[in-house]
Amino acid sequence: MTSDKLTAARRTVLRAGVVLGTLAAARVVLAPDGGAPAPEGSVRRARGVPGSAAGPPGGYRLRPMAGETSRSGPGASPPRAEVAFTLPDRGREVALTFDDGPDPRHTPEILQVLRRYGVRATFFVVGECALAFPDLLHALADEGHAIGNHTWTHPQLTALPPDAVRGELGRTSALIEEVLGAPPALARAPYGDWDPLSLAVCAELGMSPVGWSVDSQDWTRPGPERIADTVLDALGPGAIVLCHDGGGDRVQTVQALEWYLPELLDLGYDPVRVPR
Ligand SMILES: [Zn+2]
Repeated sequence: MTSDKLTAARRTVLRAGVVLGTLAAARVVLAPDGGAPAPEGSVRRARGVPGSAAGPPGGYRLRPMAGETSRSGPGASPPRAEVAFTLPDRGREVALTFDDGPDPRHTPEILQVLRRYGVRATFFVVGECALAFPDLLHALADEGHAIGNHTWTHPQLTALPPDAVRGELGRTSALIEEVLGAPPALARAPYGDWDPLSLAVCAELGMSPVGWSVDSQDWTRPGPERIADTVLDALGPGAIVLCHDGGGDRVQTVQALEWYLPELLDLGYDPVRVPR
């Protein structure tokens, strides 16, 4: 029980720190919504990438990145058998995943926290963001994080014709291979919305589809304390945790990570990358 008390005390201290951090960051939090901050200076582009005429990431990502329902109606539930929602049963391993980046502000902040604790995570990147910030893609790979495909423009794949689905996933894999020298082995559909076609394209491209078992709900920006509580309360061995490093203001995501990451380590969890 002593360790529980220590954990509770630590949680209280950390909670106070998070609140102070929130106050300090209030000016930032209140900044107008606009998706990812506009890239500073000229947009860097990867060489030889198909379709690289696309502009920097736009504001479409202000839409919720997760938790939306599929256009599929009742009775038309998407195939789920081949999607990994949890990790293979290996002790207290869990996986932290970050979607919708890379983002020039929040991805480095998240990298910094992960580095502090020696933890590796999985980042499902949006192709057009990776195109705008290839250096961040390199930074993720250099620090040992896994990189997955999260489509080119973050559409609902199940609403697209086959050619567009192939384009969204194929173009993103091509860019990652162009920048890093190897294509991604993992993919996550926007909104977790898969169907037989998108799963088939995913398989054609040599990727395993990945879902999640714990939705941090960080994109709703309920406060870092609430995000951390959501993660810690739902966490269990094999959990795959959904968070976001891009797609909008992710100050709360970073603050929550600073709180729940040391806590889950104290609880004996072992954060790993999503395996291939
Ligand atoms: Zn997303």
